[in-house]
Amino acid sequence: MSDLVLVLNSGSSSIKYQLLHAVSGDVLASGLVEKIGETHGGRIVHEAGPAKLEYDGAIPDHKAGLLRAVEMFRQTGLDLTSIGIGAVGHRVVHGGEVFWEPTMITDEVLQTIDKLSVLAPLHNPANVVGIESTRELLPGIPEVAVFDTAFFHTMPAAAKTYAIDAKLAAAHGIRKYGFHGTSHQYVSEKAAQYLGRPTEELNQIVFHLGNGASASSIQGGIAIDTTMGMTPLEGLVMGTRPGDLDPGVTPYLMRASELDVSQVEQLLNRSSGLKGMSGVNDFRELQQLIDGGDAQAKLAYDVYIHRLRRYLGAYLVELGTVDTIIFTAGVGENSPAVRADALAGLRNLGIEIDPARNETRTPGVRRISPDSAPVTVLVVPTNEELAIARAAHKLATT
Ligand code: ADP
Repeated sequence: MSDLVLVLNSGSSSIKYQLLHAVSGDVLASGLVEKIGETHGGRIVHEAGPAKLEYDGAIPDHKAGLLRAVEMFRQTGLDLTSIGIGAVGHRVVHGGEVFWEPTMITDEVLQTIDKLSVLAPLHNPANVVGIESTRELLPGIPEVAVFDTAFFHTMPAAAKTYAIDAKLAAAHGIRKYGFHGTSHQYVSEKAAQYLGRPTEELNQIVFHLGNGASASSIQGGIAIDTTMGMTPLEGLVMGTRPGDLDPGVTPYLMRASELDVSQVEQLLNRSSGLKGMSGVNDFRELQQLIDGGDAQAKLAYDVYIHRLRRYLGAYLVELGTVDTIIFTAGVGENSPAVRADALAGLRNLGIEIDPARNETRTPGVRRISPDSAPVTVLVVPTNEELAIARAAHKLATT
């Protein structure tokens, strides 16, 4: 069967897609559909080799966005219906207690993913719409769901249990699930390959720092803890999400500001985190504000770093010894300042960064600690699309 896989990552108002060969990793085309369902700013950017196509205009829903993207594929010489796609791989955010392995999508599986929307109301519905759209546009091609929660399925009970009423927790599936699992697993395996050692021998800490951000501790290739929880709101400070917050704040806010449940949900998902503290969620803009002397932006940055270091400390203790610390995703791969500040002053713990290596950009995996340091600090570019493509291809061919 062809190893050509179409990978879809559908968000509430966006779709990222890639058409790639699962074995070689060669990307034929990729694109981003943005601001779906919004009255202004709908946009698609589609790239296929040197060709770049752009569309600006209203995109009423996910299916309409995908139809336009399919047309852009065609304009760049790639007819998705006849090119021989072997599988479609979908990133699905929440697998609940039902799914963790990559899963062939049937009507029943799709219904269950839809039901799991109660656990991820902002994410799973978009995944469902994405799946329905590709099933309609590309009938007959195997579709595989790859769950963001999968890698954290193995976390020990002590790490994933919330200290609340046990019966309530069981009745509603309330526990820590963790997200970004595909990325945490991919970069930790890449790091092991880079070091020429089996993952089974390594204790690793991963910082996935993008718009969403999460950290994990991984013992011998198995995740034992992560910062995100039942939802992707817990843990590190993110672009628009607060991370850890006293649970008492939510009922207090609802009473004091007369906000209803969905308003609080919006507040916590869309206008907290860096954006809430500084007005911007993009890290590059935050850095510009800091350079211009903006005190709120500096405070937001300090809170962000403080939280990273708190979890670094926690995970160092959980693991006892650590072999590698990995930075990945938009901020982790591109911000030397964040990496340096997150690990500053820890030489006594064997953690050190070489400033010149930290500042030097090279493609692929790179070591930013001195060769002599006991803990190897790495920048590992993540590639969730490739990991999803490989998982989908593997399932579709077995
Ligand atoms: P996601 O996949 O969660 O949408 P990304 O992994 O693409 O997010 O990361 C996006 C973040 O990375 C943004 O905050 C962006 O500002 C930041 N980023 C991208 N490039 C740089 C850079 N050169 N320096 C600092 N931050 C960067």
